[in-house]
Amino acid sequence: MQQTVSIKVTPTSKSKIESVDWENLPFGKVFSDHMLVMDYKDGAWQEAEIVPFGPIEMHPAMSAIHYGQSIFEGMKANRTVDGDVVIFRPDMNAKRFIESCERMCMPTIPEDLFTELVRKLVEVEKDWIPSKEGYSLYIRPFLFATDEFIGIKPSETYRFMIFTCPVGAYYSEPVNVLIEEFYTRASEGGVGRAKVAGNYGASLFPARKGQARGYHQLLWTDGKTHSYVEESGTMNVCFVIDGKLVTPSEDSDTILRGVTKRSVVELAKHWGMPVEERKVTVAEIVEANKNGSLTEAFGAGTAATIAHIAKIGYRDTDLVLPSIESRDFSNKVHAYLDDMKAGKVEDPFGWILKV
Ligand SMILES: *Cc1c(COP(=O)(O)O)cnc(C)c1O
Repeated sequence: MQQTVSIKVTPTSKSKIESVDWENLPFGKVFSDHMLVMDYKDGAWQEAEIVPFGPIEMHPAMSAIHYGQSIFEGMKANRTVDGDVVIFRPDMNAKRFIESCERMCMPTIPEDLFTELVRKLVEVEKDWIPSKEGYSLYIRPFLFATDEFIGIKPSETYRFMIFTCPVGAYYSEPVNVLIEEFYTRASEGGVGRAKVAGNYGASLFPARKGQARGYHQLLWTDGKTHSYVEESGTMNVCFVIDGKLVTPSEDSDTILRGVTKRSVVELAKHWGMPVEERKVTVAEIVEANKNGSLTEAFGAGTAATIAHIAKIGYRDTDLVLPSIESRDFSNKVHAYLDDMKAGKVEDPFGWILKV
């Protein structure tokens, strides 16, 4: 079901690819040669273009900067051992992008078109996909309001863009997270379920307080009672308790519906592991740590894939978790997802899009 769209490509006259230190790629600081741009005006999407990567001009009254109609996505492309270029579950990102658009009164991009635009840019940038194991080409689609107007109403014009970054590992070590019981990431009826730019700006201040205490990330709890675990940074959170995969359910609109977490849940079920998607209390995590039934905890997200959680800060104590080597499920699921993207194992689920 592939949409055929004509996309004008203007190649760069001066590739930066030779200047990249491929052995030491930082996350999100190296940008490939091209970007995709597609404007919305007069009630319709205009033709998409791929142009040399570079700064964009903006009007000082551009509405996204003032009133925050700005959303994004994140996914990865990899090169398989057979030399194919693959993208992991872009249809899921396309669907979530539509949800974010709707929540923010922004025009939606049909799923097929979104996927095709991503595919096309990756095809143009395929030489930018790092070959080193665990490295990928990170893909960042985003949409923002461009009306030149001071006043609060949905913009009538928008710009959709995609750029890509060759990236290394997001976290080089297991993470320590701090249970946050005062600040709130998302509340019911809010925008926590959408990938809205402002959610991340709002998280910086509480996250900095956590970092000052030596934690990488906060483990957010629900805004009403602060007694239920929700998610962490840009990762969903999973626990293994008594041999079961336990993870906060996404029924509320306070948790971002992650593609990585969904894949972890589907794999666990596929392997016959019991899965509980439900409300998870802070109290039960503390108790399970105490009685030894909490054997694994990890964050799941595109940037890090699986990030082991070494320690969970709770008030004035630390819950110390079992050694990384002992974590059979998280290590297995991480390796399987990596192998799938590297084309080393089959894809029985249809998750891999070949470019
Ligand atoms: C992007 C994101 C995630 C992870 O989603 P993936 O689709 O797995 O990358 C989790 N939580 C938040 C808040 C996010 O922004």
